Amino acid sequence: MNIILLGPPGAGKGTQARTLVDERNMIQLSTGDMLREAKDSGTEMGKVVAEVMARGELVTDEIVIGLIREKLEGDKQGGFIFDGFPRTLAQADALAELLEEQGESLDAVVEMRVDDDALVQRITARSTCGNCGEVYNDQTKPWPTDGKCSKCDSTDVTRRADDNEDSLKQRLMEYYKKTSPLIGYYYAKGQLRSVNGLGEIDDVKASITDALK
Ligand code: AMP
Repeated sequence: MNIILLGPPGAGKGTQARTLVDERNMIQLSTGDMLREAKDSGTEMGKVVAEVMARGELVTDEIVIGLIREKLEGDKQGGFIFDGFPRTLAQADALAELLEEQGESLDAVVEMRVDDDALVQRITARSTCGNCGEVYNDQTKPWPTDGKCSKCDSTDVTRRADDNEDSLKQRLMEYYKKTSPLIGYYYAKGQLRSVNGLGEIDDVKASITDALK
């Protein structure tokens, strides 16, 4: 099964993708994570994307499509979860072609709906474990007082450089201008299923499970 998790920054796509990885042996393809790795590796491409990401703008279609193409050629396990990709109509068209080349198809697009005030709250309070990617929130799920990640015991708490108010405004603007048209695009293709992305992680997970039936 190949699915897209679609939604604005802070909707919880990464958190839900990780549960699908654990439960269904699927492969999470997060272009945001891939770009952060490229940025940290100090390659030429990494240097180019670092500034774009810090501003909260979108990296070129060419770069992200190239990253996804490489991954689709590898092991497919229980299928792919596209998290943060596609983000433009050109990326959506490219994904359809890439899947077809691999003899694969898209089974569902799950739109995670969250209101804008909640997104701002979630993102400005967000921290993540630098080792396993577990997500924390200063108000609702603070980093454990013993200083260790509850999932993997790492002490590496990190905050994303683009999780600040200025970058976030730009990321939301990019979402509404370039990514939200994908909701109509996938609706018209009969592939869209929308879930309420607000609420407890397990409730959202249950809604996604229903949407995938
Ligand atoms: P994310 O971790 O999905 O919030 O992505 C972080 C940043 O990486 C975004 O704000 C963009 O700058 C960049 N990015 C991630 N995925 C894409 C994509 N599919 N297309 C363009 N830029 C992307």
